[in-house]
Amino acid sequence: RKKGNAPSWEPLAVNYFDYAVWTNTDKQKNEWEKQLAYWQENLRGDLPVLQLSAAKRPVVKTNNGERKTYEIPGNLFKGIEVLCTAKRVTLNQGLIACLNLLFYKYTGNTDIITGTLTSGRQRSELENIAGLLINTVVLRTEVDPAAGFGDFLLNQQTVVENAFLHQDIPFAYLAEKLNRQRDISRSAIFDIMIIFNDERGYQQDALPEGFEVISYDKRPTSQLDIIFSFTVNNEGLSLYTEYNTDIYTEALIDRFVMHFEQLLAKCIEQPSVPLSAFSIVSEAEAQLVLDGFNKTVQAYETGITLTDLFRRRVSDMPDFPVVTFRNKVLTFRDIDVQSDLLAKYLVKKYCLQKEDIAAVSIKRSEWLPVVLLAVMKAGCAYLPVDPSNPRERIDYILQNSGSKVLVDAAELDRYAAVNPEDLQSVELPAAIDENNLAYVIYTSGSTGLPKGCMLEHKGVVNRIQWMWEKYNYSSIDSILQKTTFAFDVSVWEIFMPLCWGCRMVICDDDDVYAADRIAQLIENNKVTCLHFVPGLLNAFMDAVFEMPDLAKKLQSLNKVITSGEALPAATVDRWYSKMTAPVFNLYGPTEASVDVTYFDTKPGLQVIPIGKPVANTKMYVLDSFLNPVPVGITGDIYIGGVQLARGYLNNPELTSRKFIENPFMHGGRLYHTGDTGRWLEDGDIEYTGRNDNQVKIRGYRIETGEVEFQLLQLDGISGAVVMAADIAGTGKSLVAYVTGASTMSEICIKQELRKKLPDYMVPSFIVKMDAFPQNTNGKTDRKLLPMPGAGEDTAEQEFAELENET
Ligand code: AMP
Ligand code: MG
Repeated sequence: RKKGNAPSWEPLAVNYFDYAVWTNTDKQKNEWEKQLAYWQENLRGDLPVLQLSAAKRPVVKTNNGERKTYEIPGNLFKGIEVLCTAKRVTLNQGLIACLNLLFYKYTGNTDIITGTLTSGRQRSELENIAGLLINTVVLRTEVDPAAGFGDFLLNQQTVVENAFLHQDIPFAYLAEKLNRQRDISRSAIFDIMIIFNDERGYQQDALPEGFEVISYDKRPTSQLDIIFSFTVNNEGLSLYTEYNTDIYTEALIDRFVMHFEQLLAKCIEQPSVPLSAFSIVSEAEAQLVLDGFNKTVQAYETGITLTDLFRRRVSDMPDFPVVTFRNKVLTFRDIDVQSDLLAKYLVKKYCLQKEDIAAVSIKRSEWLPVVLLAVMKAGCAYLPVDPSNPRERIDYILQNSGSKVLVDAAELDRYAAVNPEDLQSVELPAAIDENNLAYVIYTSGSTGLPKGCMLEHKGVVNRIQWMWEKYNYSSIDSILQKTTFAFDVSVWEIFMPLCWGCRMVICDDDDVYAADRIAQLIENNKVTCLHFVPGLLNAFMDAVFEMPDLAKKLQSLNKVITSGEALPAATVDRWYSKMTAPVFNLYGPTEASVDVTYFDTKPGLQVIPIGKPVANTKMYVLDSFLNPVPVGITGDIYIGGVQLARGYLNNPELTSRKFIENPFMHGGRLYHTGDTGRWLEDGDIEYTGRNDNQVKIRGYRIETGEVEFQLLQLDGISGAVVMAADIAGTGKSLVAYVTGASTMSEICIKQELRKKLPDYMVPSFIVKMDAFPQNTNGKTDRKLLPMPGAGEDTAEQEFAELENET
């Protein structure tokens, strides 16, 4: 402004972005076309999205912002300047490289898109014009994790130089030309911008006589997700940030800048170390997430098995009524005598030896704990097989496991016919120890067939002792056993009572989904604890809250356990709106003895984390190079500690892929869960999703690859994609998309699948397509698959025989 005057701006006479102005001559026209073609090529394919925090973003982009300026320490400024000079790159390019490296570290993305500004004064006519001529250009940077920072600098230089060589195409024009489907929660093409101002050459007296430069102190807003703007002046290097407060917090930006400085120091010191090896965590942060958040050592008794614990209870409390089923009640002594006999029968008839696998396939009844204990007393691991599985799948599991026996209803009938006297002299195998197998559970396998996960006594013993102590269980507790024994939730439902001594009330298979009967069971047996998959807890509340007399039957409850899938905050709030029994959210894969983290919920939370590691367990959130990521940053969840499975049965290849060496603890192993999450400040982990095609439907773990594999076995089906989707807001269900000449009706396809897969893996919807939509790389684009309409639900058209009274 002219000194002393209020500023007044005249609009520029010429819209210099005007295509017509820029393409006066053929030469200019050619140049324009060339530049446009450059960008179209450069921004080909799926554009990567850069998001530095796992926080949910507003559905529609907002401009709420804050800003903060940081001074970069002088030694770092000098260091990077020296390095840039040596490599003959500009400071601008060096700082952009370092920020991009940090983005890569935060997200694991190796393809990163940001924006930057050009002065827009390429033409000599524009040089002396006062006005905002800047243009935005896109920087698409490829990160090679194997390269050192020195080489990355050169790569970044090329990216920046190329962008500037093609800077004439106005950004808005380019965005329009690219004609991408816009995500209204985001800006066009990129969300983060990096700006560089060098004011070292700037001199006040270069202005015309009587003018001065002032800046407006505008209201804090944020045009983009974040703008990082570096300024170098005679004082040093500063970093101004402007960020969207609906996505980022000041603490996150502070931490980001702290990590930037740390990384800058590493880049300066070690420009030839591969980028993958740089960890952005400081020593203090690494110490916190690796150790501080994992202080879980508990000196539990070692060397004991589930059967050892059970025997102690038999001698402590022989007459305690541990098992209730319908109107039958069994004491510890009853269970002990029965399971001893059955163990002897099995050993005699099938020559069972230590660590043999014994498949068990029975409906829920008081026999269940007896059979499982008998198998263990025979020195064997039990392999639960849900009797409702199709024959073919059962056969596969039996054959794949090499199971020596199938304990089913028919076998129990044969056993019942044997005279107990004839078994008394049978010797059981020598006692097993904590390293022997307790059970083998088959879970869905991504390559088309289920896989058996082998769990040892020591992990399970640890898991149930932790739970018993953590939630103050005692002999006055009564646990509702309602999870099918084919899933490991049943392990604590069954073995906590058997091993530590409280009551177990076995729920009839038919009653598991009947809220009224569950409520009645709870009242009749003064049940104190039960488990729900979150989706089923909701369904339970639907029924119970509808009828006030049902809720009254739940008064004995004092702990509700959820696990198996993400627990929505709304579900928790809904529970506490009517109930007082606390809800505990547990997390863990079958591969790590049921659960490895816990979180005690309360009403009014925004998100329900999965919480902190259980005793003798370590949780890790790592990047793709197994570096720990700091608090707040999303990474892959790994599990270490005593609860890890031995591996997958007869599958050393998969075992070594999923169970790796623990880089932070000599001799330890880590299980790679496939889940993603992030540490919160207080040491809880927030679950953020999965990075593969494993899904959960009502708590059932399904590899969609297994369903696809079975679809592809059917005649005339040449392509199959299976996804989980929430079709009518009623929870997730499986949707299959198929291509090929098959004329089979949807119902037929489902019937065929039912011969191979358990019911919960049979898709609810089958959508026939001519071809799958593809992304620019020629791969099936799952995002573009159509949602089946709610009205098309074919499930309702099917006819099924009545199975039972309900
Ligand atoms: P499963 O082996 O059946 O226990 O399934 C393990 C998987 O279920 C985990 O890897 C998670 O993806 C998911 N899961 C289990 N518990 C939770 C939980 N509390 N919150 C979110 N996801 C969970
Ligand atoms: Mg689990």
